[in-house]
Amino acid sequence: MANPSVRIGNTSQLQVIAEKVLWGSLDLILPPRCEGCKRIGERFCVTCRSKTEYITGPICQQCGYPQLAPTTSHCAQCRRVAFGGSGLRSLAFHSGPLRQAVHSLKYRRNVSLCEALAALMSRRWPAALPAEAVLAPVPLSVERLRERGYNQAEMLARHLAFRRRQPVRADLLERARATRSQVGLNAAQRRQNVAGAFVADPAKVKDQTILLIDDVCTTGATLSACAEALLQNGAKQVWAYTLARARLGEVD
Ligand SMILES: [Zn+2]
Ligand SMILES: [Zn+2]
Repeated sequence: MANPSVRIGNTSQLQVIAEKVLWGSLDLILPPRCEGCKRIGERFCVTCRSKTEYITGPICQQCGYPQLAPTTSHCAQCRRVAFGGSGLRSLAFHSGPLRQAVHSLKYRRNVSLCEALAALMSRRWPAALPAEAVLAPVPLSVERLRERGYNQAEMLARHLAFRRRQPVRADLLERARATRSQVGLNAAQRRQNVAGAFVADPAKVKDQTILLIDDVCTTGATLSACAEALLQNGAKQVWAYTLARARLGEVD
């Protein structure tokens, strides 16, 4: 019997190729515009890429938040919301041109940006992340998916998997119940809002090393709830990688 992750990976690869062809053809008719600065030429241009605040230097090994010096203990961010998996990493701070790009991806249906943003995530792949993991996007609620028409985390995960030649599965996690939007909630409220909100199928996750993919990590509450559901159902290890990271203090 075919390995389901390989089978789904192949369908995903076809989707990614179809998207590349579609956007490539449209670009010939109407050149793309940068979502960071509105200049014509690239979807996320070289200037905006250079203005992006990448997370570099010493970080907390658990939650990936920048530190003044290397640390082995939990940092202030971890004390607010500890990430329940092996480690969480983010490409860059949720600021400047990247913040605009994320906004455009989520709220202005600019899904063509996924390829450019996934390329950045792939190029700056954090060394700590396992190379053999199955990529799993954080699921949207049914209502949100219906309203938006796509899950931007899933699209990022598919493009990343394509570039990294790693399997991707969007069916490892499901929302167990509807949750209210996390916007406007503080760290404690966010944790409470998503506690137990996800379920994982033990038959699919048992003994797997899983890398959760999401667009933005604000306090880490959602990623932590996902990691808990996966680990409780037999996953071997759970890591997470997000495109953007909110600064400590943005949400208290
Ligand atoms: Zn730009
Ligand atoms: Zn930390």
